Amino acid sequence: MVASLPANEKDRIQALRRYAILDTPPEPAFDRIISLVARLLKVPIATVTLVDEHRQWFKAYCGLDESETDRDIAFCSHAILQDEMLIVPDTHKDPRFVNNPLVTGKPYIRFYAGMPLKGYNGSNIGVLCAIDTVPREFSSEQQAILEDLAEIVNEELRFRLATLEKNLLAAAVNHVNAGVIVTDPNQPGNPIIYCNPAFTEITGYEPEEAIGRSCRFLQGEHPDPEQQEIAKAIAERRPYRGLLLNYRKNGEPFWNSLLISPVFDEQGNLLNFVGLQHDVTDRKRDMDTLQENFERLKELERLRDSLTNMIIHDLRSPLSVTMGYLDFLRGEISGKLDEEELDLIRRARESADEINVMITSLLDVSRLESGKMPLDITESNLEDITQWALADELTLKGVRLKLELPAEPVPVRCDLGLISRVIGNLVGNAFKYSPEESTVTVRIASDEGKARFFVTDAGPGIPLEDQKRIFEKFGQVKGTRRVHSTGLGLTFCKLAIEAQGGSIGVNSEVGRGSTFWFSLPAATRK
Ligand code: ADP
Repeated sequence: MVASLPANEKDRIQALRRYAILDTPPEPAFDRIISLVARLLKVPIATVTLVDEHRQWFKAYCGLDESETDRDIAFCSHAILQDEMLIVPDTHKDPRFVNNPLVTGKPYIRFYAGMPLKGYNGSNIGVLCAIDTVPREFSSEQQAILEDLAEIVNEELRFRLATLEKNLLAAAVNHVNAGVIVTDPNQPGNPIIYCNPAFTEITGYEPEEAIGRSCRFLQGEHPDPEQQEIAKAIAERRPYRGLLLNYRKNGEPFWNSLLISPVFDEQGNLLNFVGLQHDVTDRKRDMDTLQENFERLKELERLRDSLTNMIIHDLRSPLSVTMGYLDFLRGEISGKLDEEELDLIRRARESADEINVMITSLLDVSRLESGKMPLDITESNLEDITQWALADELTLKGVRLKLELPAEPVPVRCDLGLISRVIGNLVGNAFKYSPEESTVTVRIASDEGKARFFVTDAGPGIPLEDQKRIFEKFGQVKGTRRVHSTGLGLTFCKLAIEAQGGSIGVNSEVGRGSTFWFSLPAATRK
């Protein structure tokens, strides 16, 4: 009769695999137990059997020719189904075994006693067997002997697993590229009791030069201030993580990224500290260079901003005076000038206007950046603001303007003056970059509690890598610098929209035009 599979078969096989014992050579400890079973119980056949998916395999055996048999005919397949010992006094009288090939043929089993062996998860991974070729009674004294010997096999299996795990850990610690140190805080000075090869590689100190010393010796003659933090963590029996300057055996400094953790036993007694160290000297150098460059960049930005402020404040009044004189010339003495002279004055005045626009943009941007721009938030309709802002733009360059307005008004909360300038800027750009005889479309919509504005042109489009930069101060698309460009218009738009709780962006593809958009909080409809 074939035995059924144990309910926990999957866990059982998983446990068995952990021991890595199948098909290993004989070992004296198991062989000795087998000979004790045979001698003490006076049986000709004894086995330490392990049952895997398809077979029973004997780690140790006596009185048999084969080292394994099919699981289907194994007595042990029955024995692992229960936790107590399986005793078959006479196989000829037991219907489960009377026709078993191991009974009818070699080794002609008549008597079987098997005590299950326990895996670490409590499953029965094998059996310690006492087998005879004649029927027998098995006294309670003999049962106790087999049970005790099975417990010794279990001990041996536990020891095997612990050794395997220890070896695995040791291999990991030996090969890991972080320095590992173990210290003993229960000895004076918390000395090192173990260090791995990576520690030697990083510091240059061999284990015999480090063991017995406090980790402080890596500090050289210039203790890092972090040392106090480490000492505090150790005194308080808590972990420490930090970066400190240490010295190799050859005196060379290195940056040590250190993690120290206390190790406690089950009763909460402090056993050790384990330290993990990484040499991060190269990374630290890169970070420092990055930080220096960042500081330099910030300094340059400060310089640029103070220059900008100087331009704003120092150029404004002389420029107003210049513009005043030019207007005076044009008005008062125009009769005395010929056409060419008048044209020169007109062009001087146009240039002064451009400078004035630039200075106003700079002023607005710096006021928005410093949060000093007064906002006059009111409720209005986005389509009214748009129509009003675009009154002058409609006939530029033969470019047509198409307005797509929703049936319902789009109420919005905003500063009317600022928003109409933003619209003027965005639509002005769309016109500026549009090819002749094309169409610029302005669309207004409202959804998800937002009032939305879109302006689409058929211009050159903006490469993805420039799309963020054009909203930054003086940011322009690479290689497209134009004469009448400040690179401040979109910066102003972004700051103005964000100051009013909105957001702004662009969707664009080179050669396929651009859509600039912004959204603002909608006002509740009245
Ligand atoms: P300006 O137009 O004065 O240079 P902006 O801040 O308004 O400053 O625009 C920054 C840059 O963004 C422009 O120089 C241009 O390269 C790009 N840009 C803006 N609008 C468009 C547009 N509609 N189509 C293509 N490029 C644009």
